[in-house]
Amino acid sequence: MSYDIIVIGAGQAGIQAAQRSAKHGFKTVLIESDLVGGECHYWGCVPSKALLRSGHVYRAALAVKGAAETITRPISTDKVFEKRNALTDWWDDTGIVKKLAAAGGFEILKANAEIVGIKNVRLTDKDGKRQDIKAKEAVVLATGTLAAIPKIKGIESIKYWDNKGATSSQHVPDSLLIIGGGPIGCEMATTWATFGGKVILATRGRILEQMEPFAGDMVKEALEELGVDVRLGITPVSTGMMGDDVYVEFSDGTTISASEVLFATGKTPITNVGLESVGLKPDGFLNVDDTLLVTHETNKDEPWLYAVGDVNGRNMVQHQGRYQARVASDAILARSKQLPLSTKPFVPYIAIADHSLVPQVVFTDPEVAFIGLTEAAALKKGYKVKAVEFDMAKLSGAVLRQDGYKGHAKMVVNVNKEVIVGITIVGPEVADLIHSATIAIVGEVPLGKLWHAVASFPTVSEVWLRLLEAYGL
Ligand SMILES: Cc1cc2nc3c(=O)[nH]c(=O)nc-3n(C[C@H](O)[C@H](O)[C@H](O)COP(=O)(O)OP(=O)(O)OC[C@H]3O[C@@H](n4cnc5c(N)ncnc54)[C@H](O)[C@@H]3O)c2cc1C
Repeated sequence: MSYDIIVIGAGQAGIQAAQRSAKHGFKTVLIESDLVGGECHYWGCVPSKALLRSGHVYRAALAVKGAAETITRPISTDKVFEKRNALTDWWDDTGIVKKLAAAGGFEILKANAEIVGIKNVRLTDKDGKRQDIKAKEAVVLATGTLAAIPKIKGIESIKYWDNKGATSSQHVPDSLLIIGGGPIGCEMATTWATFGGKVILATRGRILEQMEPFAGDMVKEALEELGVDVRLGITPVSTGMMGDDVYVEFSDGTTISASEVLFATGKTPITNVGLESVGLKPDGFLNVDDTLLVTHETNKDEPWLYAVGDVNGRNMVQHQGRYQARVASDAILARSKQLPLSTKPFVPYIAIADHSLVPQVVFTDPEVAFIGLTEAAALKKGYKVKAVEFDMAKLSGAVLRQDGYKGHAKMVVNVNKEVIVGITIVGPEVADLIHSATIAIVGEVPLGKLWHAVASFPTVSEVWLRLLEAYGL
């Protein structure tokens, strides 16, 4: 069988690559060895946000006089699990496969895929049946990642959760030790503490250390208010079972035991897909250029091998993987038409947004929404910057939204161009505020113009006006 494009891995990045390639008129096949929909749908974004949402609404209601008095019962975890189970289709992809097939445009095959030569892929289905297929234009790798579990002493002797266990559990553990203070660790601490379990979060550095320090500080404070025991600056060194509980010994000599332990300690790419057959021996994430072409000899004369989504490690969030998939499909189209590829920044086949233009939301409570560079990162890049901050509790929109509103925003401006290069907003339900910042930053809208983008009263969006005033406008 031959296709124009073979996409390996039907997570969100792979599905998007297949959809866009089909839209461009390419005969496309999408191969998946497990569940069509990938991590995001079954063990990532969807179940985690389904688990978090009820707690956010519950606490928001408790913070509004008049509504608070009507809340007389604790959160119903059974109902939350029911909602999460429905949104993840009970970890069954029949519905998604049917929906994609009904939309048409590309074929879906359930099999393990392995590259066996340039543009050649071998499929092995669950019964061991093999089939070799060939791509005329390109093979797109979208094979994602697995949880990276630290190789500490005793690890093979314990039961533990990774993101799959943490997002699909049908019971609330009496006690949960979370190792890792990044977005997944913090979101899962918020989730399981909300449901009444005792949660201990241990991390080697600070909380959310890739972000502005105030974001981590505010999330830490909120986690502690929820009853989470946060331990900073410690790393696990060994582990074992003590009856039904797991214990972990840490670098500072402390030992913590819990009924479950979750490792939220990063991800490792899935690259065991026969790449050695084309001379590629990946050591970690797959390096790609801005058209998502794998940077390797095999692509030198005739570009054919692309990698999109988490497997390239550029920005491991769903929306960025889907963006890369659109870019890669457009690059394949441009190359197939032998168009000279322009290097101008805003063309569809260059993933410019992967560089310092990545929005992300951490759905803790308060939420952390940010895009671009932190002040420290902007200074490191050599920008001349001015950073301004604003206490969002002073906004009328915040006061009206909930009693005791806590929120904070920071804007980092490149003073030479008078454009924003980074924004971080922390507060209840600020997730959707970040897209206005994304537009301002991607569009390099000068501050003088933004001054005329008037936010409605009384909304939390008035934080824009306050940040511009703080800058000196
Ligand atoms: C708990 C958690 C919460 C998250 N929350 C968010 C969020 O709120 N927002 C956000 O943007 N991101 C979030 N993410 C990240 C997001 O889930 C990932 O960025 C995204 O799912 C990656 O998609 P992908 O398509 O690159 O890979 P995956 O979804 O991992 O898909 C890869 C697919 O390839 C298949 N595969 C692998 N090897 C082969 C092979 N040889 N043959 C055939 N198939 C193969 C796999 O079975 C898999 O289905 C979260 C992640 C976690 C763990």
